[in-house]
Amino acid sequence: MLYNIHYNVSACVVYLFIISMIIVRKGFSKLSNRLFFALVISGLLSAILDIISAYYISYPETTSRFVLDFWNYAFLLIHNLMSPLFLMYVVSLSDLHRRLKFWQWVAGLVPIACSVGALLVNPLTHAVFYYDEGSIYRHGSQFLVLYVVAYLYMVASVAVVVFFRKAIPLRKVVSVIVCVAFCFVPILIQMFTEHLLIENFFQSIGIMWMLFTLENDDEVTTRITGVYNRYAFLQDVERAIYTGIPLLILSVKIYNVNYSHSTFGVQFMNGVLKRMAEWLDYLVKGADCYDCTDGHFALVMYGDDREKMLDAAEQIRLRFDEEWVYQALSVAFPAQICLLEVPKEVSSIEQIMLMLDVPADENNGRSQIIPSNALHSYQREVVIEQKIQEALERKLFQVYYQPIVDTVTGKVTSAEALLRLRDEELGFIPPDEFIPIAERNGSILELGAFVISESCRFYAENRLDLLGIRYIEVNLSVVQCMNHRLPQTIQNILDGYHLPPQRINLEITESAAAGNKTALEETVRALNDLGFPISLDDYGTGYSNYSYMFSLPFSIVKVDKSILWNAMDNNNHPGADSAMILLENTIRMLRQMRYHVVVEGVETEAQRRLLAEIGCDYLQGFLFSRPLPGNQFIDFVRTFNAA
Ligand code: C2E
Ligand code: MG
Ligand code: MG
Repeated sequence: MLYNIHYNVSACVVYLFIISMIIVRKGFSKLSNRLFFALVISGLLSAILDIISAYYISYPETTSRFVLDFWNYAFLLIHNLMSPLFLMYVVSLSDLHRRLKFWQWVAGLVPIACSVGALLVNPLTHAVFYYDEGSIYRHGSQFLVLYVVAYLYMVASVAVVVFFRKAIPLRKVVSVIVCVAFCFVPILIQMFTEHLLIENFFQSIGIMWMLFTLENDDEVTTRITGVYNRYAFLQDVERAIYTGIPLLILSVKIYNVNYSHSTFGVQFMNGVLKRMAEWLDYLVKGADCYDCTDGHFALVMYGDDREKMLDAAEQIRLRFDEEWVYQALSVAFPAQICLLEVPKEVSSIEQIMLMLDVPADENNGRSQIIPSNALHSYQREVVIEQKIQEALERKLFQVYYQPIVDTVTGKVTSAEALLRLRDEELGFIPPDEFIPIAERNGSILELGAFVISESCRFYAENRLDLLGIRYIEVNLSVVQCMNHRLPQTIQNILDGYHLPPQRINLEITESAAAGNKTALEETVRALNDLGFPISLDDYGTGYSNYSYMFSLPFSIVKVDKSILWNAMDNNNHPGADSAMILLENTIRMLRQMRYHVVVEGVETEAQRRLLAEIGCDYLQGFLFSRPLPGNQFIDFVRTFNAA
């Protein structure tokens, strides 16, 4: 035989090994996987055809010209198709194919069209290869075209990975470059040593290298469910964001999966989760399924076919309300489903992760599809949670004081301490927003202690008693009231400043009773026994639970501003008369019950006059002053009380 075919035989062995690996791993799920498989198949065919044609070329006298030509053309065609296939594979790695325009596809096909064209007209031109007088196979001048075209695709592949290196992990960039080098060098060698058929062998090694580095799905799949894992999800979504490709994410989150794990056992849960993953994976054609751990799956589909995904969402909702059968058990696992559009609704991977990590709201154990803006508000909540933590660590919280005026003397006799949080990034964050969040995550205990100790320090250091300020009102959160150590904590703080308990008046809202009433009552009584006066805040906003009012030792009731504003609405709305009756009678009733009455939200002189006439004891509102930082509050009181 004229040629050395040992390398080609080795190449066939390598390719068969790669094929078996792919089949064992079932690695066909993505376009890039399928292109890789096509590349391997054409590599194998190419090696086989090279052996066959090398054989026939070696014995031209015993072979008909047709047979000779047939195998040689087949080999050259298949072999030349490998380089554009390689480029397509590389393009699919960066998801670039989703963005390519028609003309770009056409431009990409021009070089291979030239090669194929040259081969097609070769029977006439004999310019690619021919047989000399002795029937010996020879390369013609246009054989170079085939090499140039192959080189072009290789260079283009390297250019793609280098240019889009941010969309492809570095290890993959290196891997493609190494593979190209593997294919490049032997082509050079073979150009000069025609009979040493090493090209296919080196290519097979290059492709095997890619199998281990690029097509290794082990690190991107979950062993238990067999679908892509959270790491793959992050990578794929991040790449889409980087390359600007629109994407739809359908998040499916099972309620309370940890509880289910401990109830039904790990083996059962693993089996069920696998069933779910398989079901989801086949649900939407063209979408990939990811297991983002902890009973959270995501279906990701490129493009903007919302309808298709919403359809799928509905099917998921129905399916997840039904039972999943595994071994002898059948259990339903209701889930929260949400569709997210990238980059329209969210444009960074951090945002997406924040939103997808939202704990599912259990909806009475039924599956539900929630709008994506529900996750948006949660996202702000998470950010604010971080801001609270940061502000506590960096001591960024401030306490402002709003004067409270005695209607009889016309002097400021107390103040309400109000928390302020100003963030460099978000600006002013109102307490109505951050207090409920701090209550949910427990940081209200630290915050509450801070407000009390800050108010005590402010009162003691500035001798506010000498300015006529009898006490500072501090808001207590329900969560604080549930803590039986609260009375002692507050007492310790006051002792530190040598203040008697009468200097701090604790405000509790009506809605506090909605929680554990007994625990609340115990705490409030203990506080009162220590000598702290207690106020009922926001009276009139809750459900006016009188048993609560009577069972707790309130000395002051603060009527909510909405009652005042409804009564004295400048627009004279239809219910204004009734609202006025309500205001007058509320104040009268509370005074008859021997409570001191404060009305908040006094903004106009007319309101002040009316409240004074009705007999309200104290007034608080912007008419006198907004909440002020400590030093400004002192200046204000000095001037106001001197007048
Ligand atoms: P609140 O205890 O009812 O406090 C009175 C709120 O009414 C304050 O809002 C005050 O600025 C506002 N206000 C007073 N007069 C007027 C007025 O004339 N016009 C208008 N438009 N508003 C007036 P702020 O400071 O935004 O606080 C809102 C709520 O946040 C408070 O309602 C309280 O429930 C809570 N909060 C504030 N600081 C603390 C705190 O240190 N601890 C706890 N647990 N809650 C706090
Ligand atoms: Mg208050
Ligand atoms: Mg209030």
